[in-house]
Amino acid sequence: MILGRTLESWCASYPLIRDLVALQETTWFNPGVAPVAQALADVGLTSADVADASARLARFASYLRRAFPETECSAGIIESDIVPLEHLQPLLGERYVQALNGALWLKRDSHLPISGSIKARGGIYEVLKHAEDLALAKGLLTLDDDYALLHSDSARAFFGQYKIAVGSTGNLGMSIGIMGAALGFNVTVHMSADARQWKKDKLRAHGVTVVEYESDYSVAVAQGRQQAESDPTCHFVDDENSVNLFLGYAVAGERLKQQLAAAKITVDAQHPLFVYLPCGVGGAPGGVAFGLKLAFGDAVHCIFAEPTHSPCMLLGVYTGLHDEVSVQDFGIDNVTAADGLAVGRASGFVGKAMQRLLDGFYTVSDEEMYSLLALMERSEGQRLEPSALAGVPGIARVQGEQQGYRARIGLGPQAMSNATHLVWATGGNMVPADEMDAYLTKGRELLG
Ligand SMILES: *Cc1c(COP(=O)(O)O)cnc(C)c1O
Repeated sequence: MILGRTLESWCASYPLIRDLVALQETTWFNPGVAPVAQALADVGLTSADVADASARLARFASYLRRAFPETECSAGIIESDIVPLEHLQPLLGERYVQALNGALWLKRDSHLPISGSIKARGGIYEVLKHAEDLALAKGLLTLDDDYALLHSDSARAFFGQYKIAVGSTGNLGMSIGIMGAALGFNVTVHMSADARQWKKDKLRAHGVTVVEYESDYSVAVAQGRQQAESDPTCHFVDDENSVNLFLGYAVAGERLKQQLAAAKITVDAQHPLFVYLPCGVGGAPGGVAFGLKLAFGDAVHCIFAEPTHSPCMLLGVYTGLHDEVSVQDFGIDNVTAADGLAVGRASGFVGKAMQRLLDGFYTVSDEEMYSLLALMERSEGQRLEPSALAGVPGIARVQGEQQGYRARIGLGPQAMSNATHLVWATGGNMVPADEMDAYLTKGRELLG
C-alpha cells in the first residue's frame, strides 16, 4: 500500500505514475498552467520583494569584489553569460530524429563565480541577507555604508560569534560554506551520502565543518534543522522552505531580460521563450521561474527537468500531494549521478507556489545526461556536470509533444519557429579535472 492505496489504484487515477515507477523517461505538460495575471498571486511574493533582493546584492557588490577578486570583472555582481548552441542543435535533432526549430541557447550558471553552480545565486544571497540583518541590528553597518568594510578582521570576529547550518547534497553546501566562511561565520554543512568527496574536501579547506551521513538529502536537512533549533546563535538555511533562497534565485529573471535584449533576442507572444530548468528540491528552478514570469510574463514557458530516479516535483505536482509524497513511497530509489537533483521529496512551498506557473515537467535518464555531457563538450566545448545537461532534451520534448500542449498555449508553427529555447546549465565549472575526464569518458562510451 502507498499512502493508503494500491499501486494499481494510483496508476488508474494518475497513469503517468506507471512510467515513473518503471524509470522510463516521461514528459508531462501541466493542464493547470494559468496566465500570470491569475497565478502570480499564488506565490505570495511580489516584484518588490525581488527588487529588494536585487538592491541588497548591489549593496554587497563592493564587498564581493574585495573578498572574491574573480567577481572584479562583473563589478561584484554574481552573474553568468548566455551562449548560443548552434553546433549542438543539429546534433540533437539527429539524436532525437526530429527537426528542431527556433534557436537553442545555454545559460551558464555552471560558470557562476565563487561556487560554480546555480547555488551561487540563492545560497550566497541568503548568507548575505543574514549577515546584513545581524550587522544592521548590532550597529556594525548602516545601509549607506560601503559594504567593503565587511572585508576586515573586525567584521569577521563579529560574525564569528554566529553559526550557520545547512543540509545539502553538495552544491548548496559549497555556496553557503564558502560565502559564510569568508564572512567569518562558523558554518556546518550536513552532507548526504551522495555528496562528492572533492566538495567535502574543498569545504574543509575553507574551514567549514562537514558532517557526513549515510542517508539521503532529506535526512541531512533534518539534521541541520535540529542543530539550529537547539542553538539561538545558529541560522538554519532551509532548502525546503526558504523564501530568501527563492528570492536570491528570482533576481535572475530581470538580469536575463537585459542579456536577451543585448543579444537582440525578442521575447513576446509571437516570439516565445522556453526555459529548461534542472530541478532537485525545487528552490532554484522555482525561484528562477518566478523571476522569469515577473520579467517576461506569459511569453516565457518554464519547464522542469528531473532524473528518472528522482522525479519528486513531477510526482508532487502531478498528484497534487506535493511534499506529502516521496519518490521512495513508490519504490523509486532516488539514486542518480546528477548532483543536486537526488531529492526524493519536493519542496511543498515551491510546488504549491509555482504549480500554475510551470508549463511542464520531464524526466531524463542518467545515461542520457552523460551522453549529452559528451555531446555538449564535443560540439560546443562546454564542460558541464551531469545534472546541468538535464535541460538539453527539453527542446525536443516540447516540439515532439502529442499532448495538445502547444495548441493549449496557443503557439502555432510560426511562433515555434520564432522561439528561443534556453537550457539552464546549473553546474560544472568547479568539478576537478580528473572527475570531469571520468564524466566525459563515460559519456563518450555511451555515445558510441
Ligand atoms: C541544486 C541544484 C539544482 C536544483 O536546485 P534545487 O533547488 O535543489 O531544485 C540543479 N542543478 C545543480 C547542479 C544543483 O546543484
